[in-house]
Amino acid sequence: MRRHCQRCKTEVSASFEQPTLRRWVKGYFFLGVPFVPFLPMIGSEFIVMLPLTMLYLIGMEPALAIIRAPASCDECGADVEKAGWSPADEPAPPA
Ligand SMILES: [Zn+2]
Repeated sequence: MRRHCQRCKTEVSASFEQPTLRRWVKGYFFLGVPFVPFLPMIGSEFIVMLPLTMLYLIGMEPALAIIRAPASCDECGADVEKAGWSPADEPAPPA
């Protein structure tokens, strides 16, 4: 993945800290989708399904943290910008 690094001031190769975990975590968000039609049933079952639903929702926060973690520069380790950066965004050097 090519990203612009603010520290190196050039386009560098960048990577996520845990690419494999990141891929798996994306599936986590879709884990609950097949159960949406059964929500009334799940909500009325307090022994197994409701605690499992709560666990799932608690797990949502670490999952979001992994997904939102920025990629880092392979050269210097600085966090790199998301796509959409353009050289025009860079502040002009002092004259
Ligand atoms: Zn860098």
